[in-house]
Amino acid sequence: MNFLRSLADQFAGKPIDWEELEEALIRADLGVPMTTRIVKTLQEREAWSVLGIGDVIKAVREEIARILPPEPTPIRRANGKPTVILIVGVNGTGKTTSTAKLAHYLQGRGGSRKPPAGDLGQSPLPGRPHVMLAAADTFRAAAIEQLDIWAKRLAVEMIRGQYGADPAALCYEAYEAAARQESDFLICDTAGRQHTKTNLMAELQKVKRTLGKLDPGAPHETLLVVDAATGGNALSQAREFHSALTLTGLVVTKLDGSGKGGIVVAIQDELGIPTRFVGTGENIDDFAPFDAREFLANIL
Ligand code: GDP
Repeated sequence: MNFLRSLADQFAGKPIDWEELEEALIRADLGVPMTTRIVKTLQEREAWSVLGIGDVIKAVREEIARILPPEPTPIRRANGKPTVILIVGVNGTGKTTSTAKLAHYLQGRGGSRKPPAGDLGQSPLPGRPHVMLAAADTFRAAAIEQLDIWAKRLAVEMIRGQYGADPAALCYEAYEAAARQESDFLICDTAGRQHTKTNLMAELQKVKRTLGKLDPGAPHETLLVVDAATGGNALSQAREFHSALTLTGLVVTKLDGSGKGGIVVAIQDELGIPTRFVGTGENIDDFAPFDAREFLANIL
């Protein structure tokens, strides 16, 4: 996530050229409003000092610290029922992989709502959380198979439907199964869809409504998976998915690649949607809650 590295290289030992700086900040995926604010702050300061790249980095860091929530937000939990997490996004962003990674992460977190035998009601409850998956990507048989491989590896149960089945009906069934088994978490992996296709977005709204009939609080989290490498496009995806579904967070994937991470800041800045998790590789453990302090520390 060293997304200011190229900026530092570009301006090292040079006076600041405003236009060049603006372009560089936008290339770092910080978004236009934030870039404008940073440049304005620096321009106001220039009257009394000669600016260098150090001042720019400091201003960027301060602005980011102002925008990002200082503490990671924990998963919102259902009370005594399965916590439902809906995973949405466009094709290829890493939804299925992130669903598996999240399942693995939650399994390792302890604090199951199911008391172990002989438990006298101490809180927080110990034990390994019970996680179930719903393969609600019924468009692609390969997606169901892909999730199934992960499910077997993680030893979690996966509810699957027929190829082409209604994803809302499948999520309904999956919820009932999760409730029967007193599962702690149900993660629903949905089909990838272009945020511009209104009929597919309507289908996701139906999934959401259906889950809400089973538990008014469900889905407790609606997480959009975005690929950090897609930069500004991730922002438009977030806009569309948020207006259709009211997202509760982002999973930003592929931060191990060319993704600069600025998109985390731009989406929080424009839409107020926090990044909840980051993906940093193809392995099951390449996944962690997003930590703004760490992000700031790693800026350079
Ligand atoms: P989906 O179509 O959104 O479900 O995307 P997939 O989960 O199938 O992921 C698409 C590709 O991206 C796969 O090859 C994944 O291994 C890869 N991928 C997912 N997350 C990450 C990540 O954080 N880093 C890297 N390098 N690859 C990832």
